[in-house]
Amino acid sequence: MSIAENIDALRRQLPEKVTLVAVSKTHPVERLMEAYAAGLRHFGENRVQELLPKQGVMPSDVRWHMIGHLQSNKVRSIVPFVHLIHSIDSPALLVTVNKEAERIGRVIDVLLQFHIATEETKFGLDLEEAVVLLGSGDFRSMRNVRIRGVMGMASFSEDQEQVRAEFRSLRSIYNELRDGFFSGDAAFDTLSMGMSGDWRIAVEEGSTLIRVGSAIFGSR
Ligand SMILES: *Cc1c(COP(=O)(O)O)cnc(C)c1O
Repeated sequence: MSIAENIDALRRQLPEKVTLVAVSKTHPVERLMEAYAAGLRHFGENRVQELLPKQGVMPSDVRWHMIGHLQSNKVRSIVPFVHLIHSIDSPALLVTVNKEAERIGRVIDVLLQFHIATEETKFGLDLEEAVVLLGSGDFRSMRNVRIRGVMGMASFSEDQEQVRAEFRSLRSIYNELRDGFFSGDAAFDTLSMGMSGDWRIAVEEGSTLIRVGSAIFGSR
């Protein structure tokens, strides 16, 4: 199937209120432009080195999502244009994003990334670290970041009930933070979960944004 057909098929199945982010890592700009021509405007990349050259040549109305582990020394290069950083996985990274955003007078939307999978390799906070961060004076003094919600990746597993349980745990983290720190804040509205293999389960468990690569562009 073509990229346009893949996108059509996804759109037919996806509730309208769920945002579809096309994860374009490893794919050349010509393929991204096929997705753009099919109407997609949200694109996600996991490496700054790949994001920058693509951002430089894609149309300016693309909304770029940084979805991969972000090193502090790379933050400055993306803050001028990034739409949403999904991968805040340490308090220090949030401090850096706030500082770099302040330098250029932007407020950057971010998500806190949580470790919900069994795999050891995946980055992310746990609930306790997030509670400490959000309760700190440091955080309350940050004027140039806006926390929009949470992001997580489920285990790469055939066991659908395990995947579902992991998404459910992310949902409950989201609810707990919302009630504890963002009550009445309509901007805390994003639950980023679900990829090509598990987005249906994620949507059933309350996802508001799915990050889909191979189901759009084919395998990497
Ligand atoms: C690569 C990636 C995706 C998309 O993965 P697919 O299985 O190709 O849909 C989603 N989220 C993150 C963080 C990724 O790195």
